[in-house]
Amino acid sequence: MYNKTMHGLGSRRSVIRELFEFGKRRAAEVGAENVFDFSLGNPNVPAPDCVREAALDIISSEDPCAVHGYTSAQGDAGVRAAVADSLERRFGAGITPDLIYMTCGAAASLTVTLNALTEPGDEFLLLAPYFPEYAVFVSAAGATPVVVPYDEATMLPDLAAFEKALSPRVKGVIVNSPNNPSGAVYPRELLEKMCAVLRAKEKEFGHPVVLIADEPYREIVYGGAEVPFLPCLYDDTVVCYSWSKSLSLPGERIGYIALSPRLHDAAGVYAAVCGAGRALGYVCAPSLFQKIVARCVDASPDIAAYESNRDLLYGALTDFGYTAVHPDGAFYLFVKALEEDANAFSDKAKELGLLIVPGDDFGAKGWVRISYCVSHDMIERSLPAFKKLKAMYDAK
Ligand code: PLP
Repeated sequence: MYNKTMHGLGSRRSVIRELFEFGKRRAAEVGAENVFDFSLGNPNVPAPDCVREAALDIISSEDPCAVHGYTSAQGDAGVRAAVADSLERRFGAGITPDLIYMTCGAAASLTVTLNALTEPGDEFLLLAPYFPEYAVFVSAAGATPVVVPYDEATMLPDLAAFEKALSPRVKGVIVNSPNNPSGAVYPRELLEKMCAVLRAKEKEFGHPVVLIADEPYREIVYGGAEVPFLPCLYDDTVVCYSWSKSLSLPGERIGYIALSPRLHDAAGVYAAVCGAGRALGYVCAPSLFQKIVARCVDASPDIAAYESNRDLLYGALTDFGYTAVHPDGAFYLFVKALEEDANAFSDKAKELGLLIVPGDDFGAKGWVRISYCVSHDMIERSLPAFKKLKAMYDAK
């Protein structure tokens, strides 16, 4: 009657969603003020003014049939030109409008790209810790996800393990920096080394290995951390972007795929992207929001609130004696669980009202993710519970 894989995916919620739903039920029982929900990565900073201004102006002054009508399957030509111009101004990688495909957010950018690239027997490398949906997207595209372990000392990809995992079956590698869940920004030096390894493997295998740069957090960085633009470092790169986090528009489902002009057979891959968009029913990303983001392509997110949340949370938790990765980007703090089993640790935290996500599904057992795109006040009120949790383990 139905597809068993899809039934499984639909009936088993992600651990993040489970926690979020639990939080809502728990708030009804014990009061919202006693639940500290750090589960979701839903931005709590409003979209910048330019989004509202563009929306009002477009709706009140442009032809409604054009505003709400279909655009070209790959996105409105003017919008793609605005995105390409902005990328060129900022990074100078030579990406032209005919290499841009507008999508319904980063999830669609990734699924369309993976479907466009996958041939039978292909593998994609996921660099732990990674966004759990990657495994779902890769498998649904008909490829096999292969997890590359991280370096315990840095929580960044382990170069030796990366090289070892690169077999001739590998079609591509998903790189996500700034990273969900660790908040780490991959240093340029590491990326350059990874690209050198990829280039050597391409030569050895005689076929391209595509670097998929998933970068919805590109603009959310602190202290001037550099996020190198991967098409400038490696020719066979596809960028998967969305404005979900940078402009706080996750519910509007808007993003793009950008192919490097130096990608092997870029025109062929672009045609495959258009084909995958068609096959998956992802043609014509939301028209109104295409036009809005075209006017906001150079807008910067207001990251002051995230930064002050990061400072408060990282400072307090490390003072209490927790071990955490210092996040230079995104809005997640990755913390070492106080026992081996992060699920059991997350359950104990739950009893104190702290909703934090165990790292198993991120490919990092023994760690938990704390999403700090929440109110500063909630973080302040949650600190006694974090302190108590640590004291409970210290007393054992
Ligand atoms: N990639 C990463 C690393 C994410 O954290 C998310 C969402 O949290 C996505 C992709 C999906 O983003 P979107 O909501 O734009 O589909």
